Formats: sequence, C-alpha cells, structure tokens
Amino acid sequence: MKLLDMTRKYGNATYEYPFAPYDVADGFRGKPEYDYDKCIGCTACGVACPSNAINVELNEAKDKLVWKFDCGRCIYCGRCDEVCPTNAVMLGSNFETAVRFNKEDLTESAELELECCQNCGKKFTTKRLIAYCIENFKKVGWSESVIQEKTKYIKTCPVCKKADSVELVSKHFSKGVKK
Ligand code: SF4
Ligand code: SF4
Repeated sequence: MKLLDMTRKYGNATYEYPFAPYDVADGFRGKPEYDYDKCIGCTACGVACPSNAINVELNEAKDKLVWKFDCGRCIYCGRCDEVCPTNAVMLGSNFETAVRFNKEDLTESAELELECCQNCGKKFTTKRLIAYCIENFKKVGWSESVIQEKTKYIKTCPVCKKADSVELVSKHFSKGVKK
C-alpha cells in the first residue's frame, strides 16, 4: 500500500521505452550519421577514428575513393565529428543499432570520384577535395593569378611535386657552381 501511495504521489519513475519512443538528451553521442553530399574525401575521419570503424581508402581498381563505416566497431567517441571539415559525419541521436543475422547491415559505404595529376595523369585525390580547396582560395580573397598558381599546385600529385622540387633545387645549386 505504501508503494502504491508513493506511485500515486510521484508518478512513473521509468520511461515507456521500448513501447514508446525515447527522446535522448541534447549532446547525446549516438550513431555517427554520414552525409554523402557533404563529404569531400579528405580522409580526416579515417585517420582520427581510434577503432578503425571508419576507413577511407582506394578501391581495388584504384579509380575511386571509398568511405566505409562499420558501426560494429564504433565506440561513439565523436572524433570523426570533431575533425570533419564539412560536417559530413556527425554524431546523431540514433542508439537503436541492433541488426538481425547479418553483420553487413551494420556497415555503410560510399564512393567518390578521383582527380588525375596534371603532370603524370595518375589519380591521386578526390575531385571534391580540389573543388573545396579552390572554393576556399576564393573565400580568402586571393587574386586570380594566385588562385591559378595554387590550383596548379593542388592538382599535382605528391610524387610529381617532389620531382619538381628536386629539379628546382638542382637548378638553383647548379647556377651557384663556378666553372
Ligand atoms: S565515433 Fe569514434 S569510433 Fe565511431 S566512427 Fe567516429 S571516430 Fe570512429
Ligand atoms: S572527414 Fe568528413 S569530408 Fe573528410 S572524408 Fe571524412 S566524412 Fe568525408
């Protein structure tokens, strides 16, 4: 009787969930949500993810960048959310992540188009990342000639950049050698 009196006085102390939806608190760290349209393929989330739940790598044919997420490995730390420059991956409010029978249902993936190096023609980064950089060059107010110069630089793969630097340094030193 005493218990019934207390229930009547204070109401229910528990939630109806799972018979009714449960509203999570602000700042709740739920399942990371991925927005393909915002992703530029910078790979920052894959580098930051401590549990390898996110991997960003080239496909077998090396002609696409593949963003992969395995919710079964996620520890909800939020590092991907913190480092993503475009908010393409953010912790959401979904906590109901159980799947039936097939672990593949815990995964999701997306492919991004690659850009070719203007020197050697090898695919090396995403088209979206190049476009994102150019957009930001414009935002900082650089002149057209500077933007063109920077664009040329970012459209060159690391191997060709290295070769260009070596050539430049060699030229510089050969000028200084007395005959
Ligand atoms: S929340 Fe943490 S563990 Fe989960 S995908 Fe993001 S970085 Fe990886
Ligand atoms: S950090 Fe964001 S933009 Fe970069 S690859 Fe990950 S989801 Fe895409």
